[in-house]
Amino acid sequence: MSFSAFGDKFTRHSGITRLMEDMGEGLRTPGTVMLGGGNPAQIPAMNDYFHQLLQQMHDEGKLTDALCNYDGPQGKSTLLNSLAELLSKEQGWQISPKNIALTNGSQSAFFYLFNLYAGHRADGQKKRVLFPLAPEYLGYADAGLDEDLFVSTRPNIEMLPEGQFKYHVDFEHLHIGEDTGLICVSRPTNPTGNVITDDELLKLDALAQQHDIPLLIDNAYGVPFPGIIFSEARPLWNPNIILCMSLSKLGLPGSRCGIIIADEKVISAISNMNGIISLAPGSIGPAMAHEMIQRGDLLRLSEEVIKPFYQERVKQTIAVIRRYLPEDRCLIHKPEGAIFLWLWFKDLPISTEVLYQRLKQRGVLMVPGHFFFPGLEAEWPHTHQCMRMNYVPDSEVIERGVAILAEEIERARSEG
Ligand code: PLP
Repeated sequence: MSFSAFGDKFTRHSGITRLMEDMGEGLRTPGTVMLGGGNPAQIPAMNDYFHQLLQQMHDEGKLTDALCNYDGPQGKSTLLNSLAELLSKEQGWQISPKNIALTNGSQSAFFYLFNLYAGHRADGQKKRVLFPLAPEYLGYADAGLDEDLFVSTRPNIEMLPEGQFKYHVDFEHLHIGEDTGLICVSRPTNPTGNVITDDELLKLDALAQQHDIPLLIDNAYGVPFPGIIFSEARPLWNPNIILCMSLSKLGLPGSRCGIIIADEKVISAISNMNGIISLAPGSIGPAMAHEMIQRGDLLRLSEEVIKPFYQERVKQTIAVIRRYLPEDRCLIHKPEGAIFLWLWFKDLPISTEVLYQRLKQRGVLMVPGHFFFPGLEAEWPHTHQCMRMNYVPDSEVIERGVAILAEEIERARSEG
């Protein structure tokens, strides 16, 4: 069987495919300690809320309305209106419904946006997507139609008390050139839980404007919803910023609803792409989000339920890790948001890929760090010293996984 160049590229067994397969297999194997995937938590209060909301929407005929009709290619207009009003009021941003488009999950928004701004242009030039700070989200890595679409810069590392550290953008080595078509940063960052500071973001924004390049901020975990952010960080939007949001980490990953907030010209381009690729984005997630906004629940639940839940979980998980792994065995990136902890095993004699294989054999799934450096050209040992773990499972499950992790670390050290 032979495929087109597109087929060859998109049927490859990519890092994200292997991860998803492992997760699928893990889910079917009882007893597996799943610390690998990006599934948000099943928060009982949120699940009860969604259950009641869906029941009421069903009784009022709103669910069948959503299911039985196509929306326009820009997405459900009631949500575009209510969201524009909410964000204008809450954030003071000058936006109207014409500044918002919906997609089938934000993952497909990145595919659209990366290929809209990077790749081969009609004048023969090739543009790339710049990640100003790697590690970055694994889901970006294979989303380019062209090969070598991404370039990234290693971070500066600030060492902090209590065995923690924090990555910062290395502006000295950040190169924005003729071939930069888009700058992209997740804030909070998957996999590290880093939140680039307001200063860093303002600097990136100024650089982007200076070079006339859009700045994409992936706000899948951020404020004002779902609010999984523990540090003080001001959200930023202006017409040069493309802000991507999602309903997934609110607890609705199955709704596949991504939200793009951008200049009208970008929104019109996205609507056209939606029309061609999927006719229209799905309707159920947007119908639910609209109801949540109407009821004043979207931001309230983010602030009062979702954020405190994750904040407590991350605190408990760090306490568990420290019971088994002292600072000289394992450094932890300062947890400022998102649903992961990023662990750094500085002097481990084996790579974290080998550690991942050993953990998998013992029924513990975590993700080795080297997947999270899309576009990093020079070899950097640090990429093989880190692991990402999801801190969402119950603390007994976390403890089982961390105990096995600590044993494998000791075993590797005794071999080294
Ligand atoms: N952005 C980041 C940083 C993520 O971690 C994820 C999912 O894990 C996404 C975007 C994709 O979310 P969605 O479900 O909206 O496609």
